[in-house]
Amino acid sequence: MEEFVEAAVRQGFTAYGISSHAPLPFSTFWTLNRTKVPAYLAEFRRLKKKYKEEIELYVGMEIDYLNPEQHPATDYFQHLPLDYRIGSVHLIYTPAGQIIDTDTSPENFRKLWKEKFQGDLRRLLETYFEASMRLVEAGGFDFVGHANKIFYNAEQSCPGITEEDWYKKKLSDFFVFVAEKGLMVEINTKAYIQKGCFFPSIRDWKILQELQIPLVVNSDAHRPELIHAGRAEALQQLKEKGFKTVMELREGKWQEMPIV
Ligand SMILES: [Zn+2]
Repeated sequence: MEEFVEAAVRQGFTAYGISSHAPLPFSTFWTLNRTKVPAYLAEFRRLKKKYKEEIELYVGMEIDYLNPEQHPATDYFQHLPLDYRIGSVHLIYTPAGQIIDTDTSPENFRKLWKEKFQGDLRRLLETYFEASMRLVEAGGFDFVGHANKIFYNAEQSCPGITEEDWYKKKLSDFFVFVAEKGLMVEINTKAYIQKGCFFPSIRDWKILQELQIPLVVNSDAHRPELIHAGRAEALQQLKEKGFKTVMELREGKWQEMPIV
């Protein structure tokens, strides 16, 4: 955690948020274990104090919608002393009731829909959107993490599928629901350098603009050297598309900041 904070200070950030993947009801290689949450929060408090003259620090978690028992609005996550919560969907249930991770390589994704969804990619994508709708319905978080990230893998498997009317309808229904609930959406820049796209992709920004959904630009870095990766490019693109502001957490409040 301290390496991220040092990188943020070095890169001239004036405010920075740390958000581990939240605990799931089972262990994975990519999530924090529940038993480690007190240590996570204690380490954050230590750093907040140590760097208080240099940077505003915030602690959050990226919390999965998995099922009605596991999502950001549960008592457990609501009672943790977090400054912000991100709501995301990575995992979905197969027709046989198995949990699979959609946030995977295109090769693995292709295997998943062929083997676990009997070759029915549309059904897999619909399941992803159902989970995304339930996430928004449950609420309890500040912004949606990497909305529509699945489009990348879907397009790699079956070019053009995300241009089909039913897909576009699912996506617009999702953003309309996000707007109704007053939630923010993240522009996730993690894949920009490698894959040249943001999540949600530029193609989807028009609808965000029409719905006037507030945006947060994040690198989802996973590594200290990547905390700024793709952010300047995303902000530049937003500006070119006519967006005037993004949201930032400052002095403990979400504030609308002009894109300069
Ligand atoms: Zn994520």
